[in-house]
Amino acid sequence: MPKPSPTVGFVSLGCPKNLVDSEVMMGLLDRAGARLTARPEDAEILVVNTCSFIDTAKQESVSTILEMARHKTSGRAKKLIVAGCLVERYRDEIQKNIPEVDAVVGTGELESILEAAGLNPAPAPISGSPFTILTSTRAEVRSGKESQSGTHKGRPEGDARERSGRFLRDAWAGASSTLPTYLYDETTPRLLSTPRASAYIKIAEGCDHPCTFCVIPNLRGKFRSRRFESVVAEAEQLVARGVREITLIGQDTTCYGEDLGLRDGLATLLDRLARIPNLKWLRFLYAYPNRITGKLLETIAQHDNICKYLDLPLQHASPDVLKRMKRGASADIFLKTLSKVRAAVPGIALRTSFIVGFPGESSSDFEVLEEFIKEASFDWLGVFNYSHEEGSAAYALDAQVPHRTIESRRRRLMKLQQSISRRAKKNWVGRELTLLAEGSSAETPLLWEARTEFHAPEIDGKVFINDFGPLDDLEPGHFYRAQITESHDYDLVARILSAAN
Ligand code: SF4
Repeated sequence: MPKPSPTVGFVSLGCPKNLVDSEVMMGLLDRAGARLTARPEDAEILVVNTCSFIDTAKQESVSTILEMARHKTSGRAKKLIVAGCLVERYRDEIQKNIPEVDAVVGTGELESILEAAGLNPAPAPISGSPFTILTSTRAEVRSGKESQSGTHKGRPEGDARERSGRFLRDAWAGASSTLPTYLYDETTPRLLSTPRASAYIKIAEGCDHPCTFCVIPNLRGKFRSRRFESVVAEAEQLVARGVREITLIGQDTTCYGEDLGLRDGLATLLDRLARIPNLKWLRFLYAYPNRITGKLLETIAQHDNICKYLDLPLQHASPDVLKRMKRGASADIFLKTLSKVRAAVPGIALRTSFIVGFPGESSSDFEVLEEFIKEASFDWLGVFNYSHEEGSAAYALDAQVPHRTIESRRRRLMKLQQSISRRAKKNWVGRELTLLAEGSSAETPLLWEARTEFHAPEIDGKVFINDFGPLDDLEPGHFYRAQITESHDYDLVARILSAAN
């Protein structure tokens, strides 16, 4: 008698990059015969893919692990597996302090999820796509292998930073000193958990930048790009499965290809992917400010299906803070970059994020940031409180900003952005745009939710549809022409004009 397939429940925490890791692990489990379930109470094996970028993410990871552990003591679950960034940081501690955890899987060893689950790897199918579309009944998602080989030389910048100790994990007791080198490829099975028409592709992993507040390089390893042909093949397979919107991600997408000897790697990749027939929207997230080249902007402007959208995390605008963050630049330099972007790609939507309360951030540094935000007028903006992370270079800095000051600065910036956004969104009223319908709204079934090319999945405001115009019904994952009829602080309301291809 063959062993019955185990039922696996999967919880994915953190950012889209972690979500792709979850999709790869779910794909491996699915191909090996596991059945995925959205109900943890039905699962025999529970997997929590964790995030540990900042303190609040760590707390959420630990409380989710403890919540899932309860299914082992009072439910059906026989095994609890913890995966992801928390494992890279606290590998030994997790099992020592949470005895319900049976196995851990780091970010560089996704394939060992099979061993952890007690499954044998299944042979790859002779032909066909490695993708399975995950339906909402199969797993809960909150929110092949291409390991570094001869083709990856590493970037000289990263090698130099490694020699200077950038990637050391000495400060983290219980972490293994080995950095992850894993990259998935186009043959790796993936169980897609995003809405049917949209998918992420991770084009690179790790980061070589020296930002002093950030421990991601220590968690994810040195920057490494996936092979150009592997990304193209994955995108073609996704589009053949009905995906119409692809979002390229990585810790820093604008460095794509530098380790492969490519010049203007991201621009070249975008230019190639934009030629895939039926790919309606293509975008990339997480650009590094000094890597926005003329060629990249030209490529965005040239192709109708490359979304006029740029996510450019700037972190601060005061030159003193940026210097201590080891990012450099200043408000003036950023304003020049933004005008170059806006001139090259008229109408482009800009998203950024800032950290408030970095050690030594004075009230005048904060005012520089405030003035910069007023002048730059971003379409979308996120503000994060500084998180004091052991293992980051900033951990050694004095002049901590009190928590209350940090929180009040964050609120002040969010309020400022709210008024900027409210004013800007008013200008959208009357515009005719293409929308991607996502389904009926979680807030009320009377409204549908949709996005334009100026809204990235999950993170930006929404477009609510309250009038189907000449159509009886809408289909999720389909495109429509629509007119914006109302604006709010961040959200818009639209009326459908017609179906679109
Ligand atoms: S570029 Fe981003 S991921 Fe890389 S070190 Fe800086 S903040 Fe961290």
